[in-house]
Amino acid sequence: MDNIKQLDQTYIAPTYARFPVVLTGGHGSVLTDEAGKEYIDLGSGIGVNAFGACDEVWQKAVCEQAARLQHTSNLYYTEPCAKLAAMLCERTGMQQVFFCNSGAEANECAIKVARKYGAEHLGPEHTTILTLKGSFHGRTLATLAATGQEVFHKDFLPLTPGFVYAEPGNLADVEKQLDANSCCAILFEAIQGEGGVIPLEPAFIQGLAKLAQERGLLLMADEVQTGNGRTGKLFGYMHSGVQPDVVTTAKGLGGGLPLGAAILGGKAAGVLVPGSHGSTFGGNPVCCAGALTILERLDEAFLSQVAAKGNWVRSQLEGAPGIKSVTGAGLMLGIETEKGAGEVLAACQARGVLPLRAKNKVRLLPPLNIPQNLLAQGVQILKEVCAE
Ligand SMILES: *Cc1c(COP(=O)(O)O)cnc(C)c1O
Repeated sequence: MDNIKQLDQTYIAPTYARFPVVLTGGHGSVLTDEAGKEYIDLGSGIGVNAFGACDEVWQKAVCEQAARLQHTSNLYYTEPCAKLAAMLCERTGMQQVFFCNSGAEANECAIKVARKYGAEHLGPEHTTILTLKGSFHGRTLATLAATGQEVFHKDFLPLTPGFVYAEPGNLADVEKQLDANSCCAILFEAIQGEGGVIPLEPAFIQGLAKLAQERGLLLMADEVQTGNGRTGKLFGYMHSGVQPDVVTTAKGLGGGLPLGAAILGGKAAGVLVPGSHGSTFGGNPVCCAGALTILERLDEAFLSQVAAKGNWVRSQLEGAPGIKSVTGAGLMLGIETEKGAGEVLAACQARGVLPLRAKNKVRLLPPLNIPQNLLAQGVQILKEVCAE
């Protein structure tokens, strides 16, 4: 272990504050470190391993596709990405998909679609995208600019221009910003994940949709974290009954392999034309073959189990000693604790449980199919750690 840690610390650019654990394997919701110690996984990467580690159905599809053909350029047709796109459109009522490799890239695509839409339908000055304070949309320069948190901006100025930020929950502020700027789109997360697992009120999201509709702006949902069943619905926006023009997703979509998607419908369908955008790796057949096995299993019965598990976790944690509040939906939960989140995470790790953090909160994003007994064990240990 010292050797791997030393190598990593010597040769990897130190952008991550890693935990002192070298993970070597896993099965379902249990991960194993170098010493053979087992951990209950309450993070799934960061909401990536939707069906846990080395899920057999996913693994079989991935291995079979890797043995058949691992990549073609996007100059040729392949079956897995065509089928996955059809499934995403059927499940969302949308029309077209652009595949890429990450959440930031999915949002880059959405930003390009919004700019092109604005220029073509609203006028050349309509280049500005309204996002929300506390949001997180990625680490590339444009998605950093879209991210409404100064802490991510500093050191990287000048940012890509054309973004304004409104107060989440405050429709008057949104309207004020839309009046003052020539906008083409509104981009939001149904639950601000990196911002601290902060849900937007359905009435606020409906208000955003109404304002976008009235002004001819694109409504764009960043479902990178909230998508693919995480909140107990297929996508987080589905809790508030709005229909976005653009839905971006990544994280859990590939079940552990890098895959992002920008799903286009409504006013955004038809904006991209040959040459508008592209990606060498986007829509990779191995990633898409795996993703198909994830999406296929996210039916209504499965999604209601995700919701029920989330409600059960909340019922265990709300009002428990050392726990101040619980936010989120489904298996995307943020827990405000009396102890510092860092201290809680370290104590959980020592006792064989791996939650995440978001800002000053403990964040839970367990595999969507985590068995109830493991979830109960993990939550029990978390409760004990918070109460100590
Ligand atoms: C993680 C995340 C992103 C960035 O995704 P990457 O795959 O890391 O580029 C964008 N938006 C939201 C809401 C996220 O949670």
